Amino acid sequence: MSSAATAQTLDKNGQEIKAVGFKRFGFDSEVALDVLRSLYLRPHYAPATTEPKDAAIKADSEEDKFSLFQSKSIYYPETHSISYTTLSRFPPVKLLPPSERKRILVTGGAGFVGSHLVDRLMILGHEVTVIDNFFTGSKTTVSHWIGHPNFEMVRHDVVEPFMIECDQIYHLACPASPPHYQFNAVKTIKTSFMGTLNMLGLAKRVKARFLITSTSEVYGDPEVHPQPEDYWGHVNPIGPRACYDEGKRVAETLTYGFQRQDGVDVRVARIFNTYGPRMNPADGRVVSNFIVQALKGEDMTVYGDGKQTRSFQYIHDLVDGLIALMNSGESRPVNIGNGDEFTIGEFAELVREIVEKVQDEDGVKRERRVNIIYKPMPTDDPQKRRPDTTRAKETLDWQPRWTVRMGLEEMVRYYKAKMEEGSL
Ligand code: NAD
Ligand code: UDP
Repeated sequence: MSSAATAQTLDKNGQEIKAVGFKRFGFDSEVALDVLRSLYLRPHYAPATTEPKDAAIKADSEEDKFSLFQSKSIYYPETHSISYTTLSRFPPVKLLPPSERKRILVTGGAGFVGSHLVDRLMILGHEVTVIDNFFTGSKTTVSHWIGHPNFEMVRHDVVEPFMIECDQIYHLACPASPPHYQFNAVKTIKTSFMGTLNMLGLAKRVKARFLITSTSEVYGDPEVHPQPEDYWGHVNPIGPRACYDEGKRVAETLTYGFQRQDGVDVRVARIFNTYGPRMNPADGRVVSNFIVQALKGEDMTVYGDGKQTRSFQYIHDLVDGLIALMNSGESRPVNIGNGDEFTIGEFAELVREIVEKVQDEDGVKRERRVNIIYKPMPTDDPQKRRPDTTRAKETLDWQPRWTVRMGLEEMVRYYKAKMEEGSL
C-alpha cells in the first residue's frame, strides 16, 4: 500500500475518515475506506521480477490482506508490456438477505463516477449491471468485478433501448468533460435525450426507481451565487456547451414528464465539479489536467485570467450523496457538491503545492518548479460556481466531509502510481 493509505485522512472537522457512507433511509452504504482504496490506490501491476504470491495461502500484513484481491497482471519493463491473468479471488462483498439485496443498473458505470458507485454497491452486497459504450469510460475501471456472480458488464449504447429486470437505475451515461462532450455535440444531445428516454421507459416498464446525474451546468453562467435548486439558470442555448447543458436540462424535463404522466419514481442529482482517482488523465477537466501537468513537470495551463471560480467535491462524498438521494423520499432536484470555492488561479497554486509535497515525501527530485501559464478562455466558460447545499442537508442529512486538500493528495498519489507503472 502507498504511504497515503497509512497516513491519517482527516475530514473538515479534523476527525479521521475511516469509513465512507452511512445508514440512512433503510439503506446501509457504509464501507471501510481502506477496502475501497485497495481497489484504486494500489500499484496496478506486479513487476516481472516479483514472484507472484500464492494469494490463497495467508494474509498476514495489511498489504497482503488487500493484495489478495488485486489483479495478478505482470509488467515487463524491457518490452513495456503487460500479461493479464484472471483474479484468483474477488474482494469480499456483504451477504445480504434477498429482501435487502437490490438489482441495480448503472449506466455509464465504467466511467469515473460510475466505477466508484459500482465499487460501493458491489461491496455492499447488491447485484450490479453496468451498461456502457466505453466512449470515455474503460473496462479496466471495473475489471476487478468481471466474472463476479453479482456483477454483469454489457457493452451497450443508451441511445438504443435496453431491457433488464431491476429495482433501481442510476443513469450516468453521458460524457462530462467539455472536450469530450463537444467532440460530437449531436451525439451528446442524443445521449442525453434518447438515452434518458430509453432509461425512463425501462424504469416505467419494470417499476424501478430512477436517478439521473444532472449537473450544475443546468445553471449555465449563473447570475445567482451560490446556486440553489430553484434557480432556473442562465444558459446559452446555441453555444459550444449547449449540447451538454441543454441536453441535461431536457433530460430533467423528460424525467419530470415521466413522473407526472406515468408515476415513475424519480430522483435528480445536480452534481457540481467532482474529482478523484480513475478520472481519465486525458479527460481535459481542470483537476486531472493540473495534476498530470505538475507531475510531468509541464506548464500548468490556466484558461483566461484564472479569476473564474469552481468548487471541488471529492468522489466519495458524491457517492454518499447519490446513494442517500436514491434511497430517500426526495424527488425534487438536489445539488450535490462541495462549497469550498477557489479561483482557478488559486487552485493551480494549490495543486502545485500538493504535488510538490507528495514528491518531497517520496524523495522525488524536481528539475524545476513548474510554471503556471495562461491560455485563452473557452467560449461560455461560467464565471463562478458554488452549490447551495441546504436542501441536501435538510432532506438527506448529507454534507461533504472531504477537504479539497485531502482529496487532492489522494488523487496525486493515484496518478503518481500510474506514472511510475508507465501507464500515464
Ligand atoms: P465519464 O466521462 O468518466 O463517464 C461517463 C460514462 O458514460 C463513460 O463510461 C462513458 O463511456 C459512458 N457513456 C457515454 N455516452 C454513452 C452512451 N451513449 N451509452 C452508454 N454509455 C455512455 O464522466 P463522469 O465524470 O463519470 O460523469 C458521470 C455522470 O455524472 C455524467 O452523467 C455527468 O454528466 C455527471 N456529472 C459529472 C460531474 C463531474 O464533475 N464528474 C459533474 C456534473 C455531472
Ligand atoms: N480550466 C483551466 N485549465 C485547464 C482545464 C480547465 O483553467 O487545463 C478551467 C476551465 O476554463 C474552467 C474550470 O477550469 O473555468 C473548470 O473546467 P472543467 O473543464 O474542469 O469543468 P467545467 O466546470 O468548466 O465544466
